[in-house]
Amino acid sequence: MTFKPDILAAIGNTPLIKLRHASKLTGCTILGKAEFMNPGQSVKDRAALFIVQDAIKRGTLRPGGVIVEGTAGNTGIGLALVGNAMGFRTIIVVPETQSQEKKDMLRLAGAELIEVPAVPYANPNNYVKVSGRLAERLAASEPNGAIWANQFDNVANRQGHIETTGPEIWEQTEGKIDGFICAVGTGGTLAGVALALKERNPKVTIGLADPMGAALYSYFTTGELKATGSSITEGIGQGRITKNIEGAPIDVAFQIPDEEALPIIFDLLQHEGLCLGGSSGINVAGAIRLGRHLGPGHTIVTVLCDYGTRYQSKLFNPDFLRTKNLPMPEWLERKSTIDP
Ligand code: PMP
Repeated sequence: MTFKPDILAAIGNTPLIKLRHASKLTGCTILGKAEFMNPGQSVKDRAALFIVQDAIKRGTLRPGGVIVEGTAGNTGIGLALVGNAMGFRTIIVVPETQSQEKKDMLRLAGAELIEVPAVPYANPNNYVKVSGRLAERLAASEPNGAIWANQFDNVANRQGHIETTGPEIWEQTEGKIDGFICAVGTGGTLAGVALALKERNPKVTIGLADPMGAALYSYFTTGELKATGSSITEGIGQGRITKNIEGAPIDVAFQIPDEEALPIIFDLLQHEGLCLGGSSGINVAGAIRLGRHLGPGHTIVTVLCDYGTRYQSKLFNPDFLRTKNLPMPEWLERKSTIDP
């Protein structure tokens, strides 16, 4: 018999998938790490597992304890599933602008969901700060205590990528990797994978793919944290240097508008059968830019962060795309003319 002892053991060890069109365009081998194949359908299952295991090891998370977190959704989904499998309650604070599908998934997984208005980090009512204060209060009042997962500044997050995602990519490419690129939410994925790869080969080029509205492209090119524009992508687009991104060995940065990322998402679905969320579009667009930067013949890896059905009401909704003046694939509105 071969089986996993539980769902936690099914987190990670995701396949690398060749992206045909991106590879052809650049003359490179562009590979996507299929993180949407994790049990919670996103890359954040890894961070959730490492954060919880770390808190147990430190003795801050005790049996019957509560996990509190502020999240764009995916980390919350990961924490809820990990929490269910290990016997911890989860309380999740999410900005109300995040997709309905992610909020529905959190509710159905049994997380206690608190929706708050989306305000910038500097505002004391920002979802991250609300979750931190709530965790502090519950740590004192809950009979078995509570922890704040604190994914942005808790480096157990990036440790997960140093110990799993990075080494998996190294082994899957047999060390023949020339570049790695992805966007930043907490920075755990980019910094963790970058540190793991650079340790094995300092010549691997690390790229940042920054959406509009984020401040890191400006930070890594001019030293100034400055944001311009906006993006409909969720879970990425950072305005500050989190503990997880601090010290990430980034060699090159690209700024990617939604108009460049969205057609890639639609194309990957229509021609390669890959149904992905918006941040994966930013990542693949970044991989194409990095491929052009390095030139043909290189192997470049990026991250396919989460599954597209999580954004059906936005990314794949013609009304939403029209109101935002964004590119739309014709098949979304196609009505069958076949007479059955
Ligand atoms: N894509 C999506 C859809 C996410 O939810 C996240 C996590 N916030 C990321 C990308 C970025 O991952 P990280 O937090 O490791 O930077």
